[in-house]
Amino acid sequence: MASLYRVPITELYKVGKRKAALFQRLGVITVGDLLRLYPRTYEDWRDPYKISEAPVGEACCIGGYIEQAHQPARIRGGMTLFKMTVCDGIDHMTVTFFNQGYLYEKFSGGGEFLFYGVLKQNGHFYEMASPSVSDMNSAGIHPVYPQTAGLPSKQIEDAASQAVRMLPPKMNDPIPEEILKKYSLCSLDFAIRNIHFPKTRDDIEKAKNRLAFEELLILQLGMGKLKGGRQISVSEQNRITQDYTEEFFSLLPFSPTSAQKRAVSDCIRDMKTAKYPMNRLIQGDVGSGKTAVAAAVCYNAAKNGMQCAFMAPTEILARQHYNSLTELLKDSGINTALLTGSVKGKARKEILSSLESGDINLVIGTHALISDNVVFRRLGLVITDEQHRFGVAQRSALISKGESPHIMVMSATPIPRTLALMIFGDLDLSVLDELPPGRQKTDTFLIDSAKRARAYGFIRKHINDGQQCYIVCPLVEQSEVMELESAQEYAQKLEHSALNSCRTAILHGKMKPKEKESVMKAFSEGEIDILISTTVIEVGVDVPNATIMFIENAERFGLSQLHQLRGRVGRGKEKSYCILVSDNQSDTTRQRLCVMCKTNDGFKIADEDLRLRGPGDFFGSRQHGLPELKVASMSSMEILDITQEAAAMILKDDPLLTKQEHRGLYFETQRLFSKAGGEQLQ
Ligand code: ADP
Ligand code: MG
Repeated sequence: MASLYRVPITELYKVGKRKAALFQRLGVITVGDLLRLYPRTYEDWRDPYKISEAPVGEACCIGGYIEQAHQPARIRGGMTLFKMTVCDGIDHMTVTFFNQGYLYEKFSGGGEFLFYGVLKQNGHFYEMASPSVSDMNSAGIHPVYPQTAGLPSKQIEDAASQAVRMLPPKMNDPIPEEILKKYSLCSLDFAIRNIHFPKTRDDIEKAKNRLAFEELLILQLGMGKLKGGRQISVSEQNRITQDYTEEFFSLLPFSPTSAQKRAVSDCIRDMKTAKYPMNRLIQGDVGSGKTAVAAAVCYNAAKNGMQCAFMAPTEILARQHYNSLTELLKDSGINTALLTGSVKGKARKEILSSLESGDINLVIGTHALISDNVVFRRLGLVITDEQHRFGVAQRSALISKGESPHIMVMSATPIPRTLALMIFGDLDLSVLDELPPGRQKTDTFLIDSAKRARAYGFIRKHINDGQQCYIVCPLVEQSEVMELESAQEYAQKLEHSALNSCRTAILHGKMKPKEKESVMKAFSEGEIDILISTTVIEVGVDVPNATIMFIENAERFGLSQLHQLRGRVGRGKEKSYCILVSDNQSDTTRQRLCVMCKTNDGFKIADEDLRLRGPGDFFGSRQHGLPELKVASMSSMEILDITQEAAAMILKDDPLLTKQEHRGLYFETQRLFSKAGGEQLQ
């Protein structure tokens, strides 16, 4: 099948340039890619329902004959409505189509058909709008593909069926025979054919199971290979010979917690004595003071002659770190610089040349740091903040700018233990399990819309006392165009509430970095009372005077995300609150949100999230910097466990996948990770 990754999709009948461009939006460029574009779901046309037995409100297939096809009628907005009455022998339903008047020709002669769509019921009246229609003998299971405008699922299905016919008669399976046997998995050939064109539900399950296994296995092998390839001894110039930690601590306006001291000394020990460069994850809940730990380590590295690069996922965070570190280090003789996408022209040139000459000891920035023209004289330490936002490939791109530099990764997202091994399997761990003194627990409440007005009154009271509030407003859809509108609409609604005289501002993902920056600045200087935001405040922002986090439609967030949002408050001396608004009554949702009210411990929350929602959400969220996973996000915890076992077994025998029988696996790891950011594994 490997060779089909070299056959462009335009080789297929009825796929021209225009359609190829649409396919590309789905990540499909070659016939091989198309075979790996799995259906989102399936339509089961095999056992048509009687109207009275059909599941109302769900997509299903109903069989019946056309009793009457009505003349298409013009309705408002210049649309045509075509209606027909369908009978299954006992009951009737109305089937409607918009702007498809030509169907009248086809159906006016009557006949028996299958209708696939969502059945709606109103008393004794049944209706199905815009169903797919087929004749009685085409019963089977049909794939439904992820779609993009202009490329309906049916056309993808046609292309996929051609692609399946191009499969070689004897396909190489990347997964070795013995592993297939051991875990009772079907062959790649069976899986690919049946994920697209299954005969039974059982076949779909078999195919999915195998493909999910393969995907997770490849992921873990790729991670393992990364680790194996990095075992290069530390270069002597990247050694810490003198420890400046006490000197640094004396610069801090507070005394470090013992957890912070421990984390710093873990790092210094690595950089002083370990055989390999430091490769350490600092995991600490929001507000545990990771920045100070990073600063201490940078201070030590810089005083020992290394250059340090500190990469943050957003411009706001990079600036925030830059400001606080520059302030802290102003009399230390350590030169700092900020390098982000918006640093341009002469300023950028100067920074680039001082990095190359070594005049800058510590550079803080965003992805801009990994662009090709950034060259260091002696990069010895690489720090990434909120690592889960960075792809594995981006991390390694920055690392490659030094001579096996020390690596420190900071994460505020407590990752469930089960997954941590898989994602950060190659890192040593320091945990900041203690918050700086004087912090109070943030009280969390779950309310429904009926109590919103009361909650606004509560917010009002705190704003009158000089405090500030974040409101995370609902997003209608995950469309970015809507982001601004929904925030603006929300701000308008506040005009008619108890919060009408408060000073508000909007923050959303589509704003330019400069605009965001100025809003954040105004908020942190207390010129704004309420920051209405989509989720862009999620990471790192630090405004201690903000004491209320008010989250609309809380059910649409994962627990870990809610925990991150909640971490924006409770940073100062005043008591803080988190108010979750949700009208969702489902048991699992309520159970999930109640976890937030019960605990402030990020690790407990992460475990609970995994238990309640399964790994799907985790893999689906794209928050972890892993390559995109397709089937794994639909799979179960068990598969995660067995792939871990299988990956360990393979890597033990062949750490870099160089053996002949692992060629297929090698190829697939390259493919998966190159998609993650254009960077090949070594
Ligand atoms: P996070 O771990 O979420 O990145 P930060 O590094 O942003 O946390 O720290 C949160 C806040 O706590 C900052 O305002 C910081 O100055 C303060 N802080 C950090 N360590 C201490 C400490 N030991 N004592 C008091 N305040 C601290
Ligand atoms: Mg932080």
